[in-house]
Amino acid sequence: MVGPALTSVAIVGGGPGGLGTAIALSELPFLKVTLYEKNTEPREAGAGISLSRNAWRVLDLLGASNGVKGGSKSNTHQRNAYTGKILNITQHPETSAADPHGSIRARRTRLQSALLSRVPEGLIHFGKKVVSLENVSGQGVRLVFQDQTEAIADIVVGADGIHSVVRRTLFPDHQLHFTGNTAFRVLIPKSRLAHIPDITTTTSWWWGEAGHVYLSDVDDEEETEDPFFEITVRFYCEPEVPGKTVFWGVPASNEKVGSRVETFDQRIRDAISAVTEGEWREFATFAGPRLNKITDWNKVALIGDASHPLSGAFGSGATFAMEDGWILARALELTRFASRPTRDALGIFEQIRSPYYAKMYQHLDDIRDKTQRLLAEATDFDVILQAKIDTFLYGDKDFIYQNDIKKVWEDYLAAEQTGL
Ligand SMILES: Cc1cc2nc3c(=O)[nH]c(=O)nc-3n(C[C@H](O)[C@H](O)[C@H](O)COP(=O)(O)OP(=O)(O)OC[C@H]3O[C@@H](n4cnc5c(N)ncnc54)[C@H](O)[C@@H]3O)c2cc1C
Repeated sequence: MVGPALTSVAIVGGGPGGLGTAIALSELPFLKVTLYEKNTEPREAGAGISLSRNAWRVLDLLGASNGVKGGSKSNTHQRNAYTGKILNITQHPETSAADPHGSIRARRTRLQSALLSRVPEGLIHFGKKVVSLENVSGQGVRLVFQDQTEAIADIVVGADGIHSVVRRTLFPDHQLHFTGNTAFRVLIPKSRLAHIPDITTTTSWWWGEAGHVYLSDVDDEEETEDPFFEITVRFYCEPEVPGKTVFWGVPASNEKVGSRVETFDQRIRDAISAVTEGEWREFATFAGPRLNKITDWNKVALIGDASHPLSGAFGSGATFAMEDGWILARALELTRFASRPTRDALGIFEQIRSPYYAKMYQHLDDIRDKTQRLLAEATDFDVILQAKIDTFLYGDKDFIYQNDIKKVWEDYLAAEQTGL
């Protein structure tokens, strides 16, 4: 006997968003899910990733929390990059009954492996770079790959990151630009930094005029013999290189990174020169106008960085992407028997997630305005720096770090039932 036809879903991109979506959607028996990833094997170029309560909540729902271990972020110092003076200390309880994992920074590969282990075998097709998409009337979406093969899917999830081809197809007027802001990132054995005072004892931010340095554990010392440590150097005034602006995970020389922090505290310069030549990776950040709409064609949804290029703001983008995938799964499950199930599901996804991103952008606008006001009034660097740190730490961000995506869904259902 032939059963009802399955709805086919093509996920484009196997980052945290695509993998999280693949896990959530593969649990729905009425869907046939395929993920297309352009890399020929799992690859994760970044260094560390911060995971807070919002992340654990969605990872728990995806059954992927267990393997993700990292270093605690319970003690974080903000410092003047030139003098090392401590300007702020944030201390959080490491863990609690309600939050057993606490706030950690983990190697990005740990998150990736945990998610990959939950994706059913055969679902991911590597080496499949999507180069174009076409809305085929009455049929779904045709995906064309670089290797000149094609696939048709009823629903497409654009999880292909900030330079998303899916977004460019739906919204061709949306243009990204290089922000001038580059992150140089590396993981280094902690033992190689142990001789430098104050470098490995806390998570720390060292703030300068045209850049900052971030240092953090990324390993759980109880399970790792030779734990690694992350150094990220952010420089805000990187020149644009004609014809080559998408530096993403490309090697950078020690000289290049060192030149961005020449006037910083000796401890920072020592930490940076402890890195073996060839290990730094450079990531150029891009930004674009926010999208008011993250679905289109009644068949396509954008998730994660494809829908909201936040350039690392809030340090929680991987979680936002996984939350998107989980909500999309709930919406498809709910509307399964509706007369136009996909259209309704995408409508719900849009209704829940777009206002959430709007709130984030509003928060960033508020910070920008506040910073500009403070900078207009101050001339002394110490005052400017304190203002910068205050605005960096500014405002109630519980709507991000405490977000409970399951509750968000339950609240949506409750509001629907009462007709709110
Ligand atoms: C400097 C920096 C620091 C950050 N720190 C943090 C942090 O601490 N915590 C955190 O949560 N987030 C952090 N982020 C943000 C986080 O990295 C992203 O938000 C997150 O990776 C987004 O996940 P994604 O799945 O949407 O996209 P991505 O991770 O970009 O994944 C996209 C995937 O799609 C694939 N792909 C792209 N194009 C195609 C195509 N045409 N066809 C097929 N496959 C394709 C790519 O190979 C990739 O695997 C940071 C970002 C930056 C820039």
